[in-house]
Amino acid sequence: MQLQGMGIGRGMAVGPVLRMPDPLPEPADVARAAGAASEFAGVDAALSAVAAELTDRGSRAGGDARDMLEAAAQMARDPTLIDDIRARIDTGRTGQRAVFEAVGAFTAEWTAAGGLLAERVADLDDIARRVIAHLRGVPLPGIPVSDTPFVLVAADLAPADTALLDLTMVLALVTSGGGPTSHTAILARQKSIPAIVAVAGALDLADGTVVIVDAASGSVTTSPTDTEIRAVHERARSVPVPITDGALKDGTKIPLLANLGSPDEAMSAIELGAEGVGLFRTEFLFLGSAAAPTVDDQRARYTELLARFPGRKVVVRVLDAGADKPLAFLGGEHEDNPALGLRGLRALRANESVLREQLTALAQADAATDAELWVMAPMVSDAEETDYFVTFARELGLRTVGVMAEVPSLALVADRVFESADFVSVGTNDLTQYTLAADRTLGSVARYQDPWHPAVLRLIKLVGDAGRASGRPVGICGEAAADPQLAVVLVGLGATSLSMAPAALADVRAELALHSLAEAQALAERAVTAGSAAEARAVATLR
Ligand code: PEP
Ligand code: MG
Repeated sequence: MQLQGMGIGRGMAVGPVLRMPDPLPEPADVARAAGAASEFAGVDAALSAVAAELTDRGSRAGGDARDMLEAAAQMARDPTLIDDIRARIDTGRTGQRAVFEAVGAFTAEWTAAGGLLAERVADLDDIARRVIAHLRGVPLPGIPVSDTPFVLVAADLAPADTALLDLTMVLALVTSGGGPTSHTAILARQKSIPAIVAVAGALDLADGTVVIVDAASGSVTTSPTDTEIRAVHERARSVPVPITDGALKDGTKIPLLANLGSPDEAMSAIELGAEGVGLFRTEFLFLGSAAAPTVDDQRARYTELLARFPGRKVVVRVLDAGADKPLAFLGGEHEDNPALGLRGLRALRANESVLREQLTALAQADAATDAELWVMAPMVSDAEETDYFVTFARELGLRTVGVMAEVPSLALVADRVFESADFVSVGTNDLTQYTLAADRTLGSVARYQDPWHPAVLRLIKLVGDAGRASGRPVGICGEAAADPQLAVVLVGLGATSLSMAPAALADVRAELALHSLAEAQALAERAVTAGSAAEARAVATLR
């Protein structure tokens, strides 16, 4: 059997499926059927079982993990928590609901208290999930753990899930949801893991089923033959090509930069020929933090990053919180439609002290290192927001300050934006999402998430033209830059550098070298006048 989806990158893998259990729904607030005493006895047994599991995992892990897991186990037996749960059961709640409400009350209190207590909120939430899973008799939600490599199948992966993923065990990712620019896709490119998103029927794959994941064709083949499996292993032994700086056939330099989410990824990016960093996603450093990181913490992380790129350009993006990258310390009110909410610069402007501290830490890291630091803001709507960010960052000592073109309104007024911005970097993932009104996390609208769409290309051309007119650089840092053919078109539209997951650098480098600037411009001209994404791709890839 073969399932079809949208492939990310060109990799292939073979291995057994391991499914990520579905998230647990909130326990319903319904009348309790059993008596209070037996309901409580069930919860008490589940709490004890969870405490024992945590202790056991801790003693197997050893080191710091043992202390942390032992502390979590004690939390599960905390008498105040247990009394609170019992009181809620006595007032008619089911055991599951009582656990959910009691833990909710504790986490609200601990978050408000801040400091060490706030940092333990995630542990408490984890305990509640474990206890509720026990009471329901279902597998624990969250990242599966395995001692042998597997193909992870999930509805989708949130950045917080992926932070916990043991990537040494994951051969490939297959999701039923998500689009080509979802964070699952970004993670896959970043880590060179073959991935296929928006695969209808993926969740019907049973644990243990052996599959071939072929990202180039977007197919998942179940129960492959031995010959098919051998072919996958042979393809994995590919021939290395020489690494040079990015350039077109006519010698025009197009620096090829890396998208990174942690200083730890710098070494492998450099090995793959990254000439610097075109997008450092700072929010990935703090996804699990309940409280805002201090200036000192941040300075240390940014210094670690910059120190790896002496004399090189490093573009750091200030925190892009909101939508599918929630940060506890920048969260606002509940939003029904968070992609259109208080995201990116909007959230930072509403919490200006967080922005001030981040820019201060960046300026200090810049002073302590020899990299060429550029700083930019995400989700910027217009020239007024650009002026605000550029002025604020300059006041705090940053020298090269720009904005991302992710919201169509910014691209439409790009000429005005360049009056204050030193550079613009196009985030094609969000620009596509907002131009085509298609949520990038939704598999059902994944086909709209296509940066080849002429509407997206025309907006990029507006930015490219404005950049050329003002003599300022225009980078591309969305996933579109990782598509070799599209990368050529983007250069034709005015991009002066391209930033991507390091694994994509080799293919993009090779494709750029086949075209002159005039040829890239001619391809771009054809693509922007096409009637659809498919037509743009077809006319621009005609040889
Ligand atoms: C983008 O939107 O293209 C981008 C690079 O930012 P992110 O994917 O982190 O939203
Ligand atoms: Mg974005």
